[in-house]
Amino acid sequence: MKPQAMRQGVVVFGSLNMDLVARVPRMPRPGETLTGESLLVNPGGKGANQAVACALQGARVQMVGRVGDDDFADQLRAALDSRRVDHTGVGSTPGQSTGVAMIMVDSSGQNCITVIPGANASVTVADADLLRTHLERSAMLLLQLEVPLDSVVRAAAVARQAGCTVLLNPAPAQLLPPELWRSIDILVVNESEASLLSGMPLVTRSNAGEAANLLRRSGPGDVLVTLGEQGVVWSSGAGTQHFVAQPVVAVDTTAAGDTFIGAFAALRAEGRGMAEAIRHAIRAAAICVTRVGAQASMPSRADVLRETF
Ligand code: ADP
Repeated sequence: MKPQAMRQGVVVFGSLNMDLVARVPRMPRPGETLTGESLLVNPGGKGANQAVACALQGARVQMVGRVGDDDFADQLRAALDSRRVDHTGVGSTPGQSTGVAMIMVDSSGQNCITVIPGANASVTVADADLLRTHLERSAMLLLQLEVPLDSVVRAAAVARQAGCTVLLNPAPAQLLPPELWRSIDILVVNESEASLLSGMPLVTRSNAGEAANLLRRSGPGDVLVTLGEQGVVWSSGAGTQHFVAQPVVAVDTTAAGDTFIGAFAALRAEGRGMAEAIRHAIRAAAICVTRVGAQASMPSRADVLRETF
């Protein structure tokens, strides 16, 4: 097995979506028709977003997943090309539509999202098995829950056997089977994911450490709870630490978590320590919330280093 220091790059096994982003004055109520202000069509999906965020920080990134056989598929591949993400592992599922996310962003920057999985739902356990050779030389595997759970469980197990660090972002939130818990090295959750997985009714800045410690007992050695403008809590065997967020005026919080995770993974994959990777990722995510869009709002490494806030 390759030693950790000789491993390079990040593999992302997950979703690719086209995001249709409508800006609205406020969220519509059930049965109500509202006039929106604008529509943007942006590449997204948690998997592809984290892949792009990671590549923008300088990591060598391989995306593995599925798209349909429509125009959105070509546009998503082109978007990955433009960010130097290797998409030779992104297959086409005949007769399927590419995944789509319909996003509404209101005047306060809050969002509401409906995801139609399309080809993301056709990712299989066999696709996960094909990862083995890549994972034997990669530093980290990034997983989310926008592709079928059995394929995620297999991908994590394959990575574990290959000696590759497994990071799971359990979004959208759902309960995890014990075999998945056992394969996770690093768990990254927001407040609502932390609440569902820990069983604590409400997770906030004041009890995030307690939630993270509970989650760590299920298997992961490190748990990060992201708290929006309240920053991040990191729990490890050495204790619990809080990191403040970078104070900025949020315009659109879409993909804040994905930017944080991708940037964090990039720094870990190049051998940086946990605290340094978290601080860098907080800066990257802060820039993301000051811009509109998902992948379009993600900063480059140069942007993060240049930004003085
Ligand atoms: P998610 O998008 O998954 O819900 P969060 O909202 O917790 O994730 O955001 C992830 C990270 O992005 C936060 O830990 C923080 O560092 C940064 N972030 C999010 N919202 C803001 C904000 N309003 N101001 C500054 N940083 C933010």
